[in-house]
Amino acid sequence: MRLPISLRLTGTLTLFLLWTLTASGQNRAQARIDDRALRAADDDPANWITYGRTYDEQRHSPLTEINEQTVGRLGLAWSLDLGTTRGLEATPLAKDGVLYTTSAWSILYAVDARTGRQIWMYDPKVPKDHSKFACCDVVNRGAALYQGKVYAGTIDGRLIAVDAATGALAWETQTTPRGSAYTITGAPRIAKGRVLIGNGGAEYGVRGYVSAYDAETGQLAWRTYTVPGDPSKPFESEAMKRAAQTWSGEWWKAGGGGTAWDSIVYDPELDLVYIGTGNGSPWYARLRSPGGGDNLYLASILAVRADTGEQVWHFQTTPGDNWDYTAVQPLMLADLAINGRQRRVIMQAPKNGFFYMLDRQTGECISARAVVEVTWATGLDSRCRPIDSAEARELKDATFVKPSPHGAHNWYPMSFNPVTGLVYFSVVDDARLHVVDDAWAYKPSDQNVGRDSTYAGPQLERQRLFPPKGHLVAWDPVGQREAWRADHPVPMSGGTLSTAANLVFQGRADGMFRAYRATDGRVLWEFQADPGILAAPITYTVEGKQYIAVLAGLGGPSVLGNRPLGRGRVGSGRLLAFALGGSATLTLSDRTPPPVPMPTFAVQASRDEITQGRFLFGQFCSRCHGGDVVGSGSVPDLRYATTAIHETFEEIVRGGARRQFGMPSFAEDVTSAQGRMIQAYILERARLAAQPPNQ
Ligand code: CA
Repeated sequence: MRLPISLRLTGTLTLFLLWTLTASGQNRAQARIDDRALRAADDDPANWITYGRTYDEQRHSPLTEINEQTVGRLGLAWSLDLGTTRGLEATPLAKDGVLYTTSAWSILYAVDARTGRQIWMYDPKVPKDHSKFACCDVVNRGAALYQGKVYAGTIDGRLIAVDAATGALAWETQTTPRGSAYTITGAPRIAKGRVLIGNGGAEYGVRGYVSAYDAETGQLAWRTYTVPGDPSKPFESEAMKRAAQTWSGEWWKAGGGGTAWDSIVYDPELDLVYIGTGNGSPWYARLRSPGGGDNLYLASILAVRADTGEQVWHFQTTPGDNWDYTAVQPLMLADLAINGRQRRVIMQAPKNGFFYMLDRQTGECISARAVVEVTWATGLDSRCRPIDSAEARELKDATFVKPSPHGAHNWYPMSFNPVTGLVYFSVVDDARLHVVDDAWAYKPSDQNVGRDSTYAGPQLERQRLFPPKGHLVAWDPVGQREAWRADHPVPMSGGTLSTAANLVFQGRADGMFRAYRATDGRVLWEFQADPGILAAPITYTVEGKQYIAVLAGLGGPSVLGNRPLGRGRVGSGRLLAFALGGSATLTLSDRTPPPVPMPTFAVQASRDEITQGRFLFGQFCSRCHGGDVVGSGSVPDLRYATTAIHETFEEIVRGGARRQFGMPSFAEDVTSAQGRMIQAYILERARLAAQPPNQ
């Protein structure tokens, strides 16, 4: 239809005016994310403005356009390829039609929430060498929005603030000693005009702490440590002085650990910040603190004052942690009726296998119950202190312990539906062999877990008797019982989203993305995504239409570490958005690996040297390239390495020749001779794969 020119012009003018109004409206809206908006986030179902949707981090949305009746029509609305095969773990934020997400290597994106068009991207240009200190891939779990800025931590320990409208850097600050073994993977949180950020690195030997920065200027407001430092120097706080009584030996030399790498939650009602803390550096209590002790505040939930970081209470989930049982896992706040009394509670399912409910005013444990089989403890006392199993505590020989260091539940966010009264989260049932290296000594810039990676004894063979299993659980926190579970064909599954329409959304490592009925776990809808999903979905509306968005992307040892937790779908990571009637499609990548070619390159090495190469590979290479040189596809499978790669092996491994691709230099870790042993082992694995021994 041809319109008169004046009408067409009027139309253009109207569109232009609408565009300007919307654009300026957006800017005003972004500026309006202030303390009041954050406190009232539950009243704003169109947007998802903070990591756990609301300050209580229940991840429960009031939106109901997608419901039990309509969910069958849910389809992919759009997808955005983020151009990385590394792990994606972020919860996107949604505000006025724009999604803000982080990606691998701490890159920030703003994306049109209706179309998937990239609006801007900010790359903090992390030195790729720093991936050496990322135990579990160069992941990032998300951003924070406040007063027109987007905040995120970087893998090399910076906190960055960029303009939400343009993506231009506003300020950045180094929150950790530059070049040290710290990393940041967790999402920042906002409390009273400050940005709260923790860090990771306990596998390498660091001391955990949380910092609060002024959101406007980036000035440090306070810092609170999680474990005591050198007792010959003044303690930073009374809490550190008390904690030092529970350590022995020279723990501070390896940092002590206790890193707060994931959950930090603000409670505006009590004006407290809750922090989950990690495992010890090293893992094993007798190496870290030879005289015993609880080693406060490892594997603990801490409550600190929002204005100062001063500690108010602590609850230690795993005293004298001996199994990498971090308690950094998501913390959730709720007000629940328990035995006829309304209580303000905080809930967590940490790695150690129990589900805890505490009074968040006092830190008193109200109740706790195991969600999977637990062999490290025989039970809990009336104050929820575990009764250790003697075998798991002593770890005299190679010992299987449940749960594994991956945890019964890890960082995957959980959600809570106040109508069903159930908490939804992923569970892994797994055992792991612990062999303590009693000759361990702290080595800077190396892994410092204290495990004997050269163990080749008979127990190793028994690992196959404990195949890892995973499921989604709906847990009744008041009754401390499982209401229902959905068994998964792959052990690893991701974060959850709950909606008022009686739905729970969750993705899995094999890429299956499902909607379950919240009351009984019936599968109502599913979509085969690619790659696998571990991140938590969110929901929001644009122009009244409801969307579900989630990141798909698996990487590093979360897929295939020293021992496989099951293969997932690896490939180019994507941001996916679903809506009713969505009809976009995804190309599924081919899952069949090509045959391994017979290597034409050879190095001279004795049987002994190849065995040493195997141990060295396990120590330095397997966490990215896969156990026994079986790669996941996220980073190269070295059995496929070309002759050209083998010819330049030393330049790559020790010279950092492939630094720009994320392969750090290991010059400080392995000698030239050791590099050749690793190479000989890789070549042997390639020859075996190219020509299986029974042929
Ligand atoms: Ca750990």
